[in-house]
Amino acid sequence: HATKKTMADHLRKFEALFNLTPQRMRMIVEAFRESLELGLSKNGQIVPMIPTYVFGWPKGDETGNFLAVDLGGTNLRVCLVTLEGKGKFEITQAKYRLSEEQKQEEGQKLFDFCGGCLKAFVDANQETGLIPKGSILPLGFTFSYPCSQDRIDHGVLIRWTKGFGAPNTEGHDVVQMFRKSLTKHSVPAEIVALTCDTTGTLIASHYVNPKTRIACIFGTGCNAAYMEKVKDIPKIAHLGIDPEQEMAINCEWGAFDSFEHENLPRTKYDQIIDESSNKPGEQAFEKLISGRYLGEILRLIICELIDEGVLFLGQNTYKIEIPYSFDTAFLSLMEMDPTEELLMIIGIFNHFFALETTLAERQFFRALAKLVGRRAARLSACGIAAIVSKMGYLEEGCAVGADGSLYNKYPMFPERVHEGLQDIFGEKGKNIVTYRAEDGSGIGSAIVAAMTKARK
Ligand code: ADP
Repeated sequence: HATKKTMADHLRKFEALFNLTPQRMRMIVEAFRESLELGLSKNGQIVPMIPTYVFGWPKGDETGNFLAVDLGGTNLRVCLVTLEGKGKFEITQAKYRLSEEQKQEEGQKLFDFCGGCLKAFVDANQETGLIPKGSILPLGFTFSYPCSQDRIDHGVLIRWTKGFGAPNTEGHDVVQMFRKSLTKHSVPAEIVALTCDTTGTLIASHYVNPKTRIACIFGTGCNAAYMEKVKDIPKIAHLGIDPEQEMAINCEWGAFDSFEHENLPRTKYDQIIDESSNKPGEQAFEKLISGRYLGEILRLIICELIDEGVLFLGQNTYKIEIPYSFDTAFLSLMEMDPTEELLMIIGIFNHFFALETTLAERQFFRALAKLVGRRAARLSACGIAAIVSKMGYLEEGCAVGADGSLYNKYPMFPERVHEGLQDIFGEKGKNIVTYRAEDGSGIGSAIVAAMTKARK
C-alpha cells in the first residue's frame, strides 16, 4: 500500500498554489494598470480612483499651528500639529476610545462627541500655552470612509464601513455635521479640509521625503494614493479645472479584480474567504493581501489538513476551527521564530489552540506562513508597479511611503515587495524604493489644511 505522505510532500502542493512567477506578475500589472485607467475615465468602475481635491505636492515650507482630527475605526484621535517648514514638525495628541454604542448612535451625536473631545483638548493646550488664547485654528479632518467630494471642505458619506452604523449620516455632508458640533461646543477651529488616511500619508511622506510619488497602506485593509494630472482624469473634465494642475487620487485599490475575478490567482482558500465574507465579490485584491485575511488563509489550510486526517489526529481541534481565530500577527511570529526547535510556534499552538505539534509540523506551518506572506508582498508589488508603469516613474525612480502593521511588523515584507518589483521590472526595479511613511492622519491632514489655506 501507498507510503504515508510527509509534511514536506504536502508543502510542495502549496508551494505550487501560492507561487507567483515574474511572468504572471507582469500580466497582473498590465491588467491592474488598465483598471486604474478605467477608474479615471468614468465613475462607477471597479477601482474607484477617487479625486481628492488635494492639488499638487506640499512645498515643504508650510508653517503654522493646525488641528487634526481622525475618526478612525477604533479611536478618535485629536492632534495639534506645528509645521515648522523644511519638512519639520511637532505634534501633540490625545486619543479617545469609541464605544460600540457610539458607533451606532445618531450621527449628529457621534460628531458632537468628537466636538466635545476636541474642545477639552484645545482647552487643555490653551492652559499649557501651546495654543494661544483667542486664535482660531485651521483643522484638517481625516475621515476614511467612502465619501463623494467635489471640493476639499465637503464630503457626502456614501456608506459607513469598519463597523460604524450611525443613522442619519449616510447621504449627509459630514463636514457640515462636524461644523455644527464645533459651534455647539464653541471650539475655536475652522474645518478647512476633509481627507482620507491614504491621501494624508502621501502628502505627509512627500513633505518629509520629496522623492515620494506613491503612498500605500498595508493594515487591516489595503489602499494606495498618488498624484495625477487633471488632464488625465477624464471623468472630472466637466469641472473646468486647469488641466495642467495636479490632484491626488485615492485609488481604493483593494477593489481591483472584484466581481470579475479574472486577473488574480485565487486558491480555493481565497474563494472560501470571499464567499463567507459579508461582502462576497468585493475587495478582491485586499482579500489576498491585507492583515485581516492572511491568518485566515493559513487557518483554512490547516483545517483542510485536519479534515483529511493529516494533522492533529486524536486532539481536540475546536479552537482552531473558529473562523478568524488565527491572527495575522501569528504568521509574523512564526516566521520570526529564531529557535531550531521552533519554540514560538509550539507556544502559539499550545497556548491559543490547545494543540501539540511535532517539529515537522512546525516547520511546515512556518513554510506555509512564508508562502502566504510572500504572495501578499508580491501582489502588493504588482499594485505599486501598475502605478509606476502608468506614470512612467521607472527610469527616474521614486520613493513609496508605506504604512500599516503588515508593512511595519511582518518580517521581510518590505524586502519581498522590493524583490517583487525587481521580478517585474528587472534591474530597474531597484529604482523603486518603499520606506516607512509619515503619519498621514495627523501630520498629513495638517499639511493638507495648510495647503488649502495657502490656495485661498
Ligand atoms: P488599521 O489598518 O486597522 O489602521 P493596522 O495597520 O495596525 O491598523 O493593521 C491591523 C492589521 O494588522 C490586523 O489585521 C492585524 O491582524 C495585523 N497585524 C497586527 N500586528 C501584526 C504583526 N505583528 N504582523 C502582521 N500583521 C499584524
